[in-house]
Amino acid sequence: MNIPLPNQKTGPNQTTGPSQQTDTDLIDPFGRAVTYLRVSVTDRCDFRCTYCMAENMTFLPRKDLLSLEELDRICSCFVGKGVKKLRLTGGEPLVRRNIMWLVKRLSRHLETGKLEELTLTTNGSQLAKYARELVSCGVRRVNISLDTLDPIIFKDITRRDHFDKVMRGIDAAQEAGLHVKINMVALKNLNEQEITTMARWCHERGMELTLIETMPMGQVDGDRYDNYLPLSTVKERLREDWTLTPIEYRTGGPSRYYKVEQTGGTLGFITPLSHKFCESCNRVRLTCTGILYMCLGQDDAKDLLTPLRASKHDLLLRAAIDEAISRKPEGHDFHIDRRNQKPAVARHMSVTGG
Ligand code: SAM
Ligand code: SF4
Repeated sequence: MNIPLPNQKTGPNQTTGPSQQTDTDLIDPFGRAVTYLRVSVTDRCDFRCTYCMAENMTFLPRKDLLSLEELDRICSCFVGKGVKKLRLTGGEPLVRRNIMWLVKRLSRHLETGKLEELTLTTNGSQLAKYARELVSCGVRRVNISLDTLDPIIFKDITRRDHFDKVMRGIDAAQEAGLHVKINMVALKNLNEQEITTMARWCHERGMELTLIETMPMGQVDGDRYDNYLPLSTVKERLREDWTLTPIEYRTGGPSRYYKVEQTGGTLGFITPLSHKFCESCNRVRLTCTGILYMCLGQDDAKDLLTPLRASKHDLLLRAAIDEAISRKPEGHDFHIDRRNQKPAVARHMSVTGG
């Protein structure tokens, strides 16, 4: 059942949306086709990165989580409505018990061709265990978060001593044939001196590097402003030694990519604070409790759990998804400064999925 969307043809950005030529049912009021679903399969994690979580996090009771079967049902409903790309994230997606059941189950949509990509964002700690199985399920690329190549700084940032484990995970991912992109959150006074080293290391290993600005999401223990490093500054510094040539490469995400002429590799910048990327947003995010967020930086959300559990057929669920997409906002309103120390949104990134 398709509920007609109010401003389907009249949204301000209808000519600038990311993929106007698409068979998705999901067109938002601004003419953007929603073809990408990110799913937080758990809010739990084996790390406690300082910018992401407090040391003493209160996690959701396990009974409140969607079952893997329910996650499959919602994801499959989105795929049926035209979503082409699914990303499993969290928390740490690979610490969810039996997660490979879900990956395997979702891979049927790759086989039919309805889904173009099934992928994950992971901290890498479990990849030595799962990389081969992921490949056998049709996963071709993963994003691995790594903010430093220094084991001591790693422990400072993640509050855990798992640097070697992550290195083994990255090795295993590459050996299994996964295309790896490294995500590095750029942090003033913590890893800013390492950015060129990290880029060289990634590019020598045939991996892309994407730099991310800290986003004001959820209360953490310290003051985020202390470590906030605008990527405009990073780019300026890099340009003192390197030639950065903009390239057209797009992943449908908020990254803007450059070729580093000196290394031959690709460097991405995700700049939610110093640069707005909302005009080409093609994504929505599902939490592990069945709440759909139409924008990472806004609080409006749609409950999909109730329609999911109200009927074993998908009619109600499909209608709820349509209604949610008709409410997708034009963009977020993140800002970070000393006077306004409250996070822009109260939930942590690990709840909505990064
Ligand atoms: N645990 C997995 C990982 O770390 O890759 C997946 C979830 S994590 C929330 C996804 C991404 O969000 C990571 O690359 C992480 O660095 C980033 N992230 C978390 N909190 C953030 C924040 N407040 N600002 C910017 N990036 C953040
Ligand atoms: Fe865990 Fe990822 Fe958040 Fe770090 S960024 S605490 S690895 S969810």
